[in-house]
Amino acid sequence: MSRVYNFSAGPSMLPEEVLKKAADEMMDYQGCGQSVMEMSHRSKVYQSIIDEAEAILRRLMNIPENYKVMFLQGGASTQFAAIPLNFMNGSGKADYIITGQWAKKAFAEAQKYGDAKAVASSADKTFSYIPKTNRSDFREDADYAYICMNNTIYGTVFKELPDTGDVPLIADISSCFLSEPIDVSKFAVIYGGAQKNVAPAGLTIVIAREDLLGNARDITPTMLDYKIHADNGSMYNTPPCYTIYICKLVLEWIEKLGGLEKMKERNEKKAKILYDFLDSSKMFRGTVVPEDRSLMNVPFVTDSEELNAKFIKEATELGFVNLKGHRTVGGMRASIYNAMPIEGVEKLVEFMKKFEAENA
Ligand SMILES: *Cc1c(COP(=O)(O)O)cnc(C)c1O
Repeated sequence: MSRVYNFSAGPSMLPEEVLKKAADEMMDYQGCGQSVMEMSHRSKVYQSIIDEAEAILRRLMNIPENYKVMFLQGGASTQFAAIPLNFMNGSGKADYIITGQWAKKAFAEAQKYGDAKAVASSADKTFSYIPKTNRSDFREDADYAYICMNNTIYGTVFKELPDTGDVPLIADISSCFLSEPIDVSKFAVIYGGAQKNVAPAGLTIVIAREDLLGNARDITPTMLDYKIHADNGSMYNTPPCYTIYICKLVLEWIEKLGGLEKMKERNEKKAKILYDFLDSSKMFRGTVVPEDRSLMNVPFVTDSEELNAKFIKEATELGFVNLKGHRTVGGMRASIYNAMPIEGVEKLVEFMKKFEAENA
């Protein structure tokens, strides 16, 4: 069967080139007589894979020297607890902006460990916008402020970072990782699960300013202590070896395409095709205010549940899969991460036009 266009929010499409290379190297990685799946994480050959992955990531994201890169497990969701355990260590206060389910979950986890405060929220309008804040909304003595940069479920993104003054900013970038350039130095910590834009599931990348590490609470499980992982080069225990290898291939693919500036151009082009259509359609409409629209996740609806269901069914039959929206929003969502080719979006819009004409 030919490959489908997978619009899933995650795990999501990987570049075909990456899958082919992994297939080629499956039985015998570069003449070493074994698969990356089988080799010891303490071997020289594996060390070169993880080192290269980190080196390319540093180049692509322009990560400053004083930031540590960690390749971890547990998903983004595990970091919801690790973050307060590692960084809620001064006043015990942390300020969260609530922009959807993921921010809410992170906030709930932080409340277990200290004085977590929701300083702003867009819950009043089903998280269809990014709430405005200013410096005075954040407590000056907060240990950190927290945002979910790109809201996978609701399709919003912070185009401008909140002004938190001297309060260190921590961001979940799971669903916009490597989608465009980001100024790492503006953050204390950024992190994300890899299964949206970077690799298959099983890998979480944490990038943290070095001076903030080493003050985890006493009760912090060793495996959640970032300093332990940073000091051990992500090899305190067995890392997700194969997923890191695929991550390296994806990073090489991005570098070959021209880096994050090029990636941004590509992603803007793709998103524009879809948003332009949504803005002109009489049947479909986007659910997010135009100024906060994500380049990665595009939720949209018709005014009829019946039509939504019919659309999803027909789209699936044509090979446009996983277009069903999150249960809290309904309708549809097209996740158009880095690996989604432009033709995928063009063909989807072609089908949407046809569907609109046939069902008007
Ligand atoms: C998918 C996602 C998560 C959850 O990731 P897991 O790796 O499944 O824990 C958290 N935050 C955001 C923004 C996501 O998109």
